Amino acid sequence: MAYTITGQCISCNLCVSVCPNGAIQEVEGRHIIDSERCTNCADSIYTVPQCKAVCPTANGCVEQLSDYWENWFATYNRVMAKLTNKQDYWERWYNTYSQKLSEQLKKQQVVA
Ligand code: SF4
Ligand code: SF4
Repeated sequence: MAYTITGQCISCNLCVSVCPNGAIQEVEGRHIIDSERCTNCADSIYTVPQCKAVCPTANGCVEQLSDYWENWFATYNRVMAKLTNKQDYWERWYNTYSQKLSEQLKKQQVVA
């Protein structure tokens, strides 16, 4: 499993120079990790993945999980962790959604 760079990346370039395998490149303004070259820093003098260690963002550089659902939940948890007022997130989402839906239905009834 290799590390990967997410949408949280702010293109600071710090990870490029610290990778012992030269696995990180900037391509057309986006930073990417070559999974063939990334060894998770396991075969180096470092005890932790250097890209993650230097990344100034919370989740700009994360381990790419091989299992689809494991990956899906990891992304979901990262996104959810950033939300404020998490407790009533789904309630507010539902209320907003149902309100918009009922407005649309009312408009359709007026036109019909
Ligand atoms: S985990 Fe290590 S080898 Fe892999 S991209 Fe990051 S710094 Fe390079
Ligand atoms: S260190 Fe983090 S924010 Fe900076 S370029 Fe690498 S992944 Fe992006």
